[in-house]
Amino acid sequence: MADLPLPPGSTIGILGGGQLGRMLSQAASRLGFDVVILDPEENSPAGRVSRGQIVAAYDDPTALNVFGRVCDVVTFEFENVPAASVERLAEAGALVAPGPTALAVAQDRVDEKTFLNAVGATTVKFAAVDSVDDIMAELDQVGLPCLLKTRRDGYDGKGQAWIRDYTNVPEAWAAIGGRPAILEAKAAFTRELSIIAARGRDGAVAVYPLGENKHAGGVLRTTNAPAQIDAKTEKRAKAIAASILDGLAYVGVIGIELFDLGNGTLLVNEIAPRVHNTGHWTQDGCVCDQFEQHIRAVAGWPLGPTKAHAQVEMTNLLGDEVEQWSKLAAKPDQRLHLYGKAEARPGRKMAHVNRVRPL
Ligand code: AMP
Repeated sequence: MADLPLPPGSTIGILGGGQLGRMLSQAASRLGFDVVILDPEENSPAGRVSRGQIVAAYDDPTALNVFGRVCDVVTFEFENVPAASVERLAEAGALVAPGPTALAVAQDRVDEKTFLNAVGATTVKFAAVDSVDDIMAELDQVGLPCLLKTRRDGYDGKGQAWIRDYTNVPEAWAAIGGRPAILEAKAAFTRELSIIAARGRDGAVAVYPLGENKHAGGVLRTTNAPAQIDAKTEKRAKAIAASILDGLAYVGVIGIELFDLGNGTLLVNEIAPRVHNTGHWTQDGCVCDQFEQHIRAVAGWPLGPTKAHAQVEMTNLLGDEVEQWSKLAAKPDQRLHLYGKAEARPGRKMAHVNRVRPL
């Protein structure tokens, strides 16, 4: 197993070759590391800016063995990599961060909310449901309207259906594909916030200023950061982040999505055990962005500063919106981050732009 802190010249492995892997790879390369990507898709956005890519399924045992051997530390860029693969790498002696527990907790919405409540991070009321009958039995305690979500594999608002009254239960159950699910009470939020935070190998915790997020059709459109927030609420948000990170003995950057109920109450919606789309503003608003922070944490380096030096509005460019690139590139207050994806399918995250203003 590699000695820590990992010196420059060491190799960092990333499971997943999308835009998050690409920006992690770019940050790692600036700190003198080599990066190897494991992703089933050839020529992935991250693979194209890295030392190499192993093209294989995430659960391919031979590929995982080779990957574990060539990398001094392994991390991941999305939470749907099989937890068993991460466990396998760890058991074979690879240094993996964040660990398999954090990944497993974040992959199951019921386990996630159970964990959150156990560490004192409040969530909406919820119940695990496996059938129409279960839903009927839980509706009274969860309350109407409520949101039915698949326990696993949901992202960007997919695998979710609202239940407004008893009559539309079978329809909602069919809409999510009749799979093991969670029934969630509706959060009457006034806005959605998120926290990007990191925990180092020594247990040090660093938290960025909060971001305020706007979604459309379940997909993030903009993040404004630092969010306008009173000092007491911000302090509470940071305490929530620290208890989640400590509770998972976490190493790396985490994204925590919050509902702000507007009366001083913050509920945690979900956690993402990785760098997060709502943290892209840090690239142009902080000296050490979330990507460098993650690399620092997993490599056992000291965490970097998290203070904002600018007000940033991050906007995602989806599908053919990326065609505006030359117009956006000409704007003096905007910094464009393109992911190098060839095909601009509708709704696909192709790029983001950070509009920067003095604080
Ligand atoms: P998620 O996939 O859990 O991040 O949900 C996607 C979006 O759906 C969130 O960003 C919220 O806008 C909305 N949402 C999710 N859960 C709830 C809830 N329990 N109450 C109200 N809105 C929700």
